[in-house]
Amino acid sequence: MYMTESLRASPRSTQLFAFRRHVEHFLETHGLTVWGKRFSTSATGRARAYHDAEAERRSVVRMNGLMPRTLSAPRERWNTPALRRRCAVDFNLPPDLLEYLAKLDAFIDAEIKPLQAQDDNERFFDHRREWARTDFEHDGLPRKEWEALLVEAKRRADRAGFYRFSLPREFGGQGGSNLWMAVIREHLAAKGLGLFNDLQNEHSVVGNFPIVVMLRDFGSPAQREEFIRGSLDGTHIISFGLTEPNHGSDATHMETRAVRETRSGVAGWRIDGEKMWTTGMHVATHCVVFARTGGRDGDARGITAFLVPTGTAGVKVEEYLWTFNMPTDHPRVSFTNVWVPEDAIFGPEGGGLALAQSFVHENRIRQAASSLGAAVYCVEESVKYARARKPFGEPLAKNQAIQWPLVELATQTEMLRLLIRKTAWEMDQMPHPEVERRLSDKVSMCNYWANRLCCEAADRAMQVHGGIGYSRHKPFEHIYRHHRRYRITEGSEEIQMRKVAGFLFGFMGPRSTALAES
Ligand SMILES: Cc1cc2nc3c(=O)[nH]c(=O)nc-3n(C[C@H](O)[C@H](O)[C@H](O)COP(=O)(O)OP(=O)(O)OC[C@H]3O[C@@H](n4cnc5c(N)ncnc54)[C@H](O)[C@@H]3O)c2cc1C
Repeated sequence: MYMTESLRASPRSTQLFAFRRHVEHFLETHGLTVWGKRFSTSATGRARAYHDAEAERRSVVRMNGLMPRTLSAPRERWNTPALRRRCAVDFNLPPDLLEYLAKLDAFIDAEIKPLQAQDDNERFFDHRREWARTDFEHDGLPRKEWEALLVEAKRRADRAGFYRFSLPREFGGQGGSNLWMAVIREHLAAKGLGLFNDLQNEHSVVGNFPIVVMLRDFGSPAQREEFIRGSLDGTHIISFGLTEPNHGSDATHMETRAVRETRSGVAGWRIDGEKMWTTGMHVATHCVVFARTGGRDGDARGITAFLVPTGTAGVKVEEYLWTFNMPTDHPRVSFTNVWVPEDAIFGPEGGGLALAQSFVHENRIRQAASSLGAAVYCVEESVKYARARKPFGEPLAKNQAIQWPLVELATQTEMLRLLIRKTAWEMDQMPHPEVERRLSDKVSMCNYWANRLCCEAADRAMQVHGGIGYSRHKPFEHIYRHHRRYRITEGSEEIQMRKVAGFLFGFMGPRSTALAES
């Protein structure tokens, strides 16, 4: 406003001069090169002027970390090896990652799509999917044929070397990074529904293994030996019992208790309480049960994790909760006078919550990438449909009322992709415990925004597709119902926003010292 007001009443030559002065002033105050003058603000370390004779002549403005911007230079002048070297950020995906995606696609085409096509397995994905997957006569649990099909897809992916990609090499994996996993998960979800990546039960040909990593980091040698091998060969299936009927977000207030008790001369623990939403109990061989063993309600310390065999006397599934997207495998489970020996303790006594936290960031960033991919799929399908469908004799796509909501969603997917990949890349640059201290807020931003965006994109896709979009002959209702869950379950939206607020206001995280001093 300052610039335009002072220019308004002047003659043209004065206006041009004044304009140049204003631009100089702006660039100087922002630490940028000014029309051939050398001007450096390297003291701040944030902006560095690029200066040489050529640059002076061509008025190159360059900011640290960004591609150089030229005011008049042709493209080939700034796209030199020297300048490229100076650009700290390269947004291109590594060629070997692109190659990996191509191989993955070829594997899916060769081995997974034919499996989906045979024996009417399409029923699990087309308009019949919810009925085909759900055994409504038996508590709404997943049908055995559906689960067997998922196992077969995983077996093929394992044989082809894709399934364990994210696992450390010691477990037959390839130590896949968070960045690669984020790109792969987005890529798969953007393909739509299919046997290669069915998010409803977190199935994917490129697996995610929170329990294996938890066992590696917290298990005793005997637990590692038994449960890691068992988890990978399918003989051990472990569910996760943290949430209770009266306590979810506030797990530190849990009511389940464990007390020391020796039975038949063997030292151990007696566990009493109730858990809720303990996913997978219908097939689980063991449940990680979190119980308070010390401290007071609300303390993070004093909660211990136990590996409890599901066949132990006193463990009872009370009911399965029917959910928005069926089938369900989410029960309420009671633990009454359940006794386990001392070596059932998983991780440090009183430090069990560290287990619950240990894999949360990896899970959240991968889930965010999947939600982003599903959002991209909804937008792209809507664009295709809007170009083909012609109400009133004109493609729907010509209407701004159709275009603009999709433009906004497409804009958000672009922005979110950058944040997800940057955050995943940063996670790969630091030791695991540092992620909680330094990056937890960014991971939460990615997660809650991606889950919300996916729901909005699925909702918009239904709208653009009209009646057929509302039907089960299109996948959007399924995508919506599934991803709606993620706004509650992987740390709910509000709990993750609380984390972001903690970092933002300096109650925790890297800004806490600086903001406390200000
Ligand atoms: C399909 C499904 C599968 C699940 N699988 C598992 C599992 O395998 N193992 C397991 O242990 N748990 C599991 N859960 C439980 C899940 O982790 C919890 O539902 C979640 O943590 C929220 O807890 P809650 O449902 O008790 O909600 P509450 O904690 O009662 O919260 C209710 C609402 O209030 C909001 N809220 C709470 N506190 C605040 C606050 N301070 N400020 C603002 N808003 C707040 C919450 O975000 C939520 O929206 C699953 C849940 C579902 C639905």
